[in-house]
Amino acid sequence: MKQPVFALVDCNNFYASCEKLFRPDLRHTPIVVLSNNDGCVVARSKEAKALGIKMGVPVHHIKQEIRQHGIQLFSSNYTLYGDMSHRVMMTLEAMAPRVDVYSIDEAFLDLTGLERLMSYENFGRQVKDTVYQNVGLPVCVGIAPTRTLAKLANYAAKKYPATGGVVDLSDPARQRRLLARVPVGEIWGVGRKISEKLQAMNIVTAIQLADADLSTLRQRFSVVLERTARELNGVPCLPWEDAPPPKKQIMCSRSFGQPIHSLANLEEAVTHFAARATEKLRGGGQYAGELMVFIRTNPFKTTVPQYSQSASVRLVKASQDSRVIVQHALNLLRSIYRDGYEYSKSGVMLGELTDASGVQDDLFETAAINPSESGRSERLMSVMDEINRKTRAKVYMAREAGPAVYAMRRGHLSPAYTTAWGELPVVW
Ligand SMILES: [Mg+2]
Repeated sequence: MKQPVFALVDCNNFYASCEKLFRPDLRHTPIVVLSNNDGCVVARSKEAKALGIKMGVPVHHIKQEIRQHGIQLFSSNYTLYGDMSHRVMMTLEAMAPRVDVYSIDEAFLDLTGLERLMSYENFGRQVKDTVYQNVGLPVCVGIAPTRTLAKLANYAAKKYPATGGVVDLSDPARQRRLLARVPVGEIWGVGRKISEKLQAMNIVTAIQLADADLSTLRQRFSVVLERTARELNGVPCLPWEDAPPPKKQIMCSRSFGQPIHSLANLEEAVTHFAARATEKLRGGGQYAGELMVFIRTNPFKTTVPQYSQSASVRLVKASQDSRVIVQHALNLLRSIYRDGYEYSKSGVMLGELTDASGVQDDLFETAAINPSESGRSERLMSVMDEINRKTRAKVYMAREAGPAVYAMRRGHLSPAYTTAWGELPVVW
């Protein structure tokens, strides 16, 4: 099998960049975007970062800086970010044969086989320029043989301006040079707790994790960290489902194997995405305060009428209950659904993620209107997750179709001559 190559495309200061795009007068002004109820800083422009404004800081702690430096404040506008995200992803989808949306502002691209056409670095620059030209947002691109290294390449592209925002890490010697400079806590999937435990074992830099004994990692941590170490050595082994959940949002979306023409079928798909996204949410011990749903037709099929729409809602009380999330997702879907289109893709995004301590009680909530009230919700959800983890029989939400419905059905498929780098016709 051919060695795969991934690119991670990640927008720079995404929320802040979206806001600045529509306010050219603030091009050089420090700005910050605030969380629900304007409580904490959730995004900073590069000028605000340079002033030392920290992520997550309550806005009333930085009153002095705001006055002194004229920092502009924005409440979070998830409808805007959702739509801008959608535009970025559409541009990426036109440039690579496979795009996996990882969060609202990042996606993995499959570049396998591309080197026959152009250098990875050139391709990365093309992506960066095209997104900027089409959407107006700055991105960085990291390219590598594994997802974990592509994440790391992207980190370097952001951190070192001399790279011009594109880092090609396909050369093993270059991988090792970078690994030696990066703290282990910056590696994808290595959270604070793991990082502390690793440091206690004298594993401080990423290269020390790459060189650590695999069976020790498996025994003392998990098979996931063992895979991370393998990935740092250029061996791809992170199946998509095991990718660590993103920090700020959780996205679950897919193109349909067959176009969908009815609301009922879209409801099944959206229920499925909402349920999977909520499962990931619980896996990370988090609660979502906001959710977004999008649907769209296939923009490359020019013979059919086009429609693309997204909608989002803020939850009065953050939740990790599949029933609550699914219900909201279906309400959003019904509000944007229009008859008479051939839908090719939809997705659900969860945002405003917090841990249990960040969940505020809803004054008006009673068990009668919210089935998730009380500890019963947590028990039910953990039983559901347990069954889904340990057994082959899966428990689904009532409206949800099994995952097979959304898998690609393509039993009689000829090569993708014009859309897959690895399947280009070869002329001798
Ligand atoms: Mg980003």
